Formats: sequence, structure tokens, C-alpha cells
Amino acid sequence: MEKFSLYKQASEQWQKAADFFELDRDVRTVLSEPKNEISINFPVRMDNHELRLFRGHRIQHNNILGPFKGGIRFHPMVNHDEVKALAVWMTFKCALVGVPFGGAKGGVTVDPRELSSGELMRLTRRFTHALGSNIGPEYDIPAPDAGTNAKTMAIIMDTFMNAQNTANRNAQRHVVTGKTLTVGGSLGREKATGQGVVYTLQSWAQENKVDLSKCTFSVQGYGNVGFHSANILESLGAKMIAVQDHTGSIYNPNGISTEDLKNFNLSGNPIIEYQESEVIAEHEFFALPVDIMIPAALEGQINESNADAIKAKVIVEGANGPTTSKAEEILLHKGITILPDLLANSGGVTVSYFEWAQNKTSSQWPLEEVDRKLKIIMDQAYAQTSHIAKDMKTDLRTASYIVALKRLSYAYQERGIFP
Ligand code: NAD
Repeated sequence: MEKFSLYKQASEQWQKAADFFELDRDVRTVLSEPKNEISINFPVRMDNHELRLFRGHRIQHNNILGPFKGGIRFHPMVNHDEVKALAVWMTFKCALVGVPFGGAKGGVTVDPRELSSGELMRLTRRFTHALGSNIGPEYDIPAPDAGTNAKTMAIIMDTFMNAQNTANRNAQRHVVTGKTLTVGGSLGREKATGQGVVYTLQSWAQENKVDLSKCTFSVQGYGNVGFHSANILESLGAKMIAVQDHTGSIYNPNGISTEDLKNFNLSGNPIIEYQESEVIAEHEFFALPVDIMIPAALEGQINESNADAIKAKVIVEGANGPTTSKAEEILLHKGITILPDLLANSGGVTVSYFEWAQNKTSSQWPLEEVDRKLKIIMDQAYAQTSHIAKDMKTDLRTASYIVALKRLSYAYQERGIFP
């Protein structure tokens, strides 16, 4: 059997849209492989004084629309193929929402839960140092992803600044986004991806006359994206009835408090020990009769093994690549709407852009302004995607790629391909 490649899946998705759009052959050629692929083996001194070698990647797919941009993931399954796919998705995501960035992604193959805070700090610093000038505030700007957070970004920023031999190194805070507020983060960045997930759902609900306050939902992955999506959706009156994370799945038909579960989890308890719900099997989680399903963990989670059982009316992709191509076929055949990752989780990179712009002008926007500007961008991206889907009689994922491809190809047309 052919080995599964996430990069192949990402490539097939945009190539399908390119066929629809009759994309210029030269642009297709340029986009067909990343510009730069950096893989690094780097040593870290562990608490027991042993030296361990870790492997990390930074893949820069395209920068025709602006500096490379994309998260850094710490996860045991991180590999070159996965990071390549995630970098491709960033190019199209930034182009779809129209923020002036290209696409990149990074990752280290490590389980951050198994490292002490000191080990994690040394790993982050050593990886950043090894990346050297391959990242930079006007060149390639990392952000948090699975297994990393605002604190990781503060450490990357600090390491980068300390390695610069220039007088203005303190003016380079925008080398990363998604930082803690104290070191130059933006209000609203932490919840931004979840906020964008909900703005996308609201646009869909308005268009399809669905009352979100009467909806039930399930969430897979209860980290940054999963929690904030759930928490904001709950504030609109919807009811979370099931959650799944890497420890297992829980269910309560009467509703689970998003905040209470988060506090329980943050205190170091696995969600499966939460008293206000019952533990269910993984296959039962996917088969629940919910209105909305939010995959917000990792790629490939909705696949041939569970797609048939899914009863949700709409799947809103908080995670990147949570639905395999085969599962997508099954779901679309069943009439289930998929609000694709490119669109639904683009709130994160959009507010990352706001943070970058604030850092460059030494300003701090109020939360209301961040949310208002985010909503304008998300609503526009939804409207364009939905319009193309109807106009070209295609699915929303393909439509989102077409919107992105139009921007990318116009930029190449206007600039030409060097030399
Ligand atoms: P996170 O590390 O904060 O949370 C990940 C969650 O997924 C955890 O709750 C973990 O328990 C769960 N998980 C891991 N493996 C699982 C499994 N096999 N089954 C079920 N649950 C599992 O990560 P995050 O930042 O919330 O990112 C989640 C997804 O969203 C990723 O695909 C990421 O690329 C995407 N994303 C994140 C952002 C962002 O701003 N953080 C932006 C856009 C997209």
C-alpha cells in the first residue's frame, strides 16, 4: 500500500482548484514545491546531563505576497512531509484572507509533555539559534501551533534578539507573533483562531438560516483552538455535549461547561476524569447526533474509519487538514457541509498580522478593534468563498483555494517570474 502523504493531500487539494480555475502553467510550476526546506538536527542538554539530539524543520513554501509566515509545532509525530503540507496550507490561507504574508511552517519532533520546563526552554532556544537568519521580522515570522504557545514565542523572540549583533535588536519583536501580551503580543490573539472559527460558523448559519443558540456541538482537541472555539460558541447559546482529546472522549447530553472543563484540565487532570460527564469510546464520539462538529486537534482525524458514522450537519475545521480526501468524499455525499480549514482557522494568522502591524508601529489596539477588524476580514473571506462555490458549482474547500489562487496568480502576472 502507498504510504500516506499529507503533502500529497495538500497538493491534490490546490491542484484540483487550479484545474477549475485553469491556472497559468508557470504559476502552477512555481507553487508545486516549497522555496526552501530546512531540516536541522540539534543537541539539547537534558536534566539528567545527557545530550539528546532533536530534529526540527522550517519549510518556506512561497513569499510572493509577503514575508513567510506560519506556526511552529512541537509534537512526537512531526515530520518533514507534514511540515511541508502545513507550509503549503499557510500560503493559500494568507492569500485567501488577503493578509500580506506568504506560507511557511516549522516543527520539532518531540513530546513537550515529557520535557521539564527547563528542557523545553533549552530546546526552544537551541532550535531558534540553529534557525539563525532563516527567520526574521521581515523575512519569516513564526507563531504558535500544536504543542507551542505564547510563552514559547516569547522565548523564540528573546533568543532571536540576543543573537542579533545590531543596536536595534529590541525593535525586532515582530520576529514572532502570538507572543504573551507583556512582550508585545496582541489583545485577542490567543482566542483568535477560535474566534475566527465562530465567525465562519455565524456566516454559514446566517446564510442557511440556522439558529446557533439551538445547536449542540462536539469538539475534538481541547487546546488553544478547541477550547476558544467551544467557549465562544457556548457564549452564543450553543451546547457542547462531547469532547475528545489525546486521553479519550467524554459526553454529557445535558451539556458540558467549557470553562469548567478547561479549569479542570489546566489543573493537570485528564478530561476523562471530569465528573460531570461519562467516558465514551472513540467511535461513539464520532457517531454522536450533534449539529456541529469542530475538529481542532491534528490532521487526518476524520477518515474512512469514522466518516460514515458522522451525523453532524456541519463540520467546521479548526485544525489544519483534519479531514482526509476519502472522508471528504463520503461526507459531501451525505450532504454534510465542511467549512474548510483554509477559511475557518484563518483567524489566527489574521490577528498575527494585526500583532505584527502593531509591533511595527509600537501600538496596542483595543480588543474591540481587533475583533471588529477580524470579523470584517473573516466575513469577506466567507462571502467570496461561498460566492465562488455557488458560481462554479463546487465545494467550499475548492472554492477557498480558487479565491486564494486568484490573488497569487494576479501577483505573479503583475510582477512576472524572475528573471
Ligand atoms: P494545542 O496543542 O493547544 O491543542 C491540541 C489538542 O489536540 C490537545 O487538546 C490534545 O490533547 C489534542 N489531541 C492531540 N492528539 C489528539 C488525538 N489523537 N485525538 C484527539 N485529540 C488529540 O494545539 P492548537 O494550537 O489548538 O492546534 C490545534 C490544531 O489547530 C492544529 O491542527 C493546528 O495546526 C491548528 N491551528 C492552530 C492555530 C493556532 O493559532 N494555535 C491556528 C490555525 C490552526
